[in-house]
Amino acid sequence: MSSPAGRPRVVAKIDELRDVLRAVRRDGKRIGLVPTMGALHDGHLSLVRASREECDYTVVSIYVNPTQFGPSEDLEQYPRTLEADRDALAEYETPLVFAPSSAEVYPAGYATWVAVGSVAEPLEGTCRPGHFRGVATIVLKLLNVVQPDVAYFGQKDYQQALVIRRMVEDLNVPSAIRVCPIVREPDGLAMSSRNAYLSPVERRRALVLWESLCLASELVAGGQRDAAVLAERMREVILSAEGARIDYVALVDPDTLAPVEAIRGRTLAALAVRVGRTRLIDNRLLEPEP
Ligand code: AMP
Repeated sequence: MSSPAGRPRVVAKIDELRDVLRAVRRDGKRIGLVPTMGALHDGHLSLVRASREECDYTVVSIYVNPTQFGPSEDLEQYPRTLEADRDALAEYETPLVFAPSSAEVYPAGYATWVAVGSVAEPLEGTCRPGHFRGVATIVLKLLNVVQPDVAYFGQKDYQQALVIRRMVEDLNVPSAIRVCPIVREPDGLAMSSRNAYLSPVERRRALVLWESLCLASELVAGGQRDAAVLAERMREVILSAEGARIDYVALVDPDTLAPVEAIRGRTLAALAVRVGRTRLIDNRLLEPEP
């Protein structure tokens, strides 16, 4: 058990954060940044563990960024659990949580946006117009404010990680980007703050995402190379769950996200599915034997 004294300090102001980090940097410490929207689970905490292994000082940002939510999305309902998040971080001796208000992030007169092309366009980019503009903008702001040596992201949001890598390279941001594996529940469901929206029945139905990714992987291991066949078989599994609606099931190049017709090398299977009112995403890299 961690003592309350081990809970991270919460800083809400950019100037104060900069003061703290100036002193940290002066001590020659490597700074790691883990950007999150809070409601922390073990997926987030795996990023914190990765940062602790590689860096001397880890900043976890907790901010539900309104500009990455569409007008009919779940911004209002999104879980906000700052005190429980601090408790979870105490175990990892995380020194600092940056939890700004929207007035601090987007003050009156705010007018600058980051638009990433190519990898931001398909899949989530098509289903959630404006989403990656909001994501790229907040992540660039966090990278500018924290100036971490390394920033950590999850493969759960595979496309988001590609968008951020593209932005960091294109805009010469001097932070390294690490992408950590997807953390799953014991039955395979990818951990997500949005899983809290699922009723017990929906929670069981949501397993079809993982089952469809496993089926794709098995079919590829068995020699199936036709992407259309794989996508169709995945769709069948997903639609076997009552109330499941598919936004997309895609087999794409893992670097460009361009659709593939045949599985010739590493291929990303990516999907977005609504279970009841909850939109879930998941993905898996398919690796055919040579
Ligand atoms: P979020 O709070 O949903 O914006 O997620 C913050 C970071 O945690 C992102 O880089 C996500 O990709 C990552 N993340 C979320 N869920 C998982 C998971 N199940 N496994 C690994 N990383 C995750």
